[in-house]
Amino acid sequence: MHQQLKTLALVVYIFTSFQLQAQVLNEPEEGHSADFTEEPGPERPCISAEEYEVMEKTLQENYLMLGLDQKAITAMTTKFAWPLRQANGLNDCSYYYITNFVDQDTTADSTRDWNCGKRTYDDHKGVDIAPYPYSLYKMDSNQVEVVAAAPGTIVARADGRFDKNCDWVSGSDANYVIIRHQDGSTSRYWHMKKNTVTSKVVGQTVVTGEYLGVVGSSGRSTGPHLHFEVSRTSNRSDYVDPFGGICNASNDSTLWINQLPYIDTGIMKVSTNTISPVFPACPQTETPNEDSCFLGGVSAKFYIFIRNQRAGTSAAMRILRPDGSVFSSWTKDFTDNFSRSYWSWTRTYPTATGTYMFEASYNGKVCSKPFRINCNLTDTKTKEGVAGTLFFPNPISTQSAIQFEPALNGATLLIYNSMGIVVQRHTNFTGSSLPLQNTHLQPGVHYIQIADGVSGTGPVKLVLTD
Ligand SMILES: [Zn+2]
Repeated sequence: MHQQLKTLALVVYIFTSFQLQAQVLNEPEEGHSADFTEEPGPERPCISAEEYEVMEKTLQENYLMLGLDQKAITAMTTKFAWPLRQANGLNDCSYYYITNFVDQDTTADSTRDWNCGKRTYDDHKGVDIAPYPYSLYKMDSNQVEVVAAAPGTIVARADGRFDKNCDWVSGSDANYVIIRHQDGSTSRYWHMKKNTVTSKVVGQTVVTGEYLGVVGSSGRSTGPHLHFEVSRTSNRSDYVDPFGGICNASNDSTLWINQLPYIDTGIMKVSTNTISPVFPACPQTETPNEDSCFLGGVSAKFYIFIRNQRAGTSAAMRILRPDGSVFSSWTKDFTDNFSRSYWSWTRTYPTATGTYMFEASYNGKVCSKPFRINCNLTDTKTKEGVAGTLFFPNPISTQSAIQFEPALNGATLLIYNSMGIVVQRHTNFTGSSLPLQNTHLQPGVHYIQIADGVSGTGPVKLVLTD
């Protein structure tokens, strides 16, 4: 984690700005931010020796209290699911990248990961996974959750510790959970956000995928990330590497149910902005400045965010009209390897009203986001709902109908008044229009919440007029 952020601070952001003539595409403006993980760093433990000692003493006491055996009962059979997920309301194409693997080289000042590379640091006993982009914004908004990677019993937990560390702070302890699995192995989830750790206590059980907390930067951490560590027993010296590969000396095969590729190249997110996002230094929170509703004909930026960009690959971008025809398209050839990167191009928005799509295709996957042109012209404001669904207008007359694009299918719709009381509830709502006439809704500030069972919005302000 440290290496990347430190390098990031040195990276020069190349951002020049010019507006292209309407709808004429010249060479795009580009900006990038990236960092390298190729070089090994000095020893920078995510968990300090003192913190490990306290942890093991806590585990001894808790095992005694729960009547558990500290040694592995059998050979290790536990397989792990991914320990992170997007919270309700976050629908990015992806949201994380791996910053460091386990160090397989036990020689001091020497590093080697499971694939014989150098994506680790000395004496690192876990896997570091960081949200991207906007890791502090995601932390503030509770958008990336830590979940149990396998079923088991909570054998230790801590919460209430400071959670916005940006460098290694001596004596800084983390918010964490440790789970003991049926075969006696343990998994550790470190650095969580303050006051977000599961309310379950030591001795209670969790199932795979169950909420444990929100990704934060408590303890020895330089920015929000999860340190995920696995041990055959309750002892840290029995740690294993969940990734199976020829340079993994600690275990024969992968411990993941689905092991990710070593280089997991992919498109993570696309966005359209008229105001550039702001990326201040940790601990300040980023400002994404994203929107999905714009005036036609104005200058805008189109962003793509990439994980494990590889030299020699290219990305293809398209802006599609409401009828699916291509409004504009361009490609970008990459010449560098970056663990994460973002790129932007300035274009002029179309002038014709409607819902458009911005999409980027990279490494066999397409990531897209709808945006609407001219919803502001009648003093309306569009907000994003479920999985890219837009609803408009807002403010809206109680004699009118809320429109959804694309249409909702089996969604739950809740409208609250300013007192937080539900004044309209629609379950299994399907369609593109919700009439408000004859529903006895009063003018004033309301809130609307949409969920489709998989994702949803938080309450979004909805202003009703006569
Ligand atoms: Zn770590």
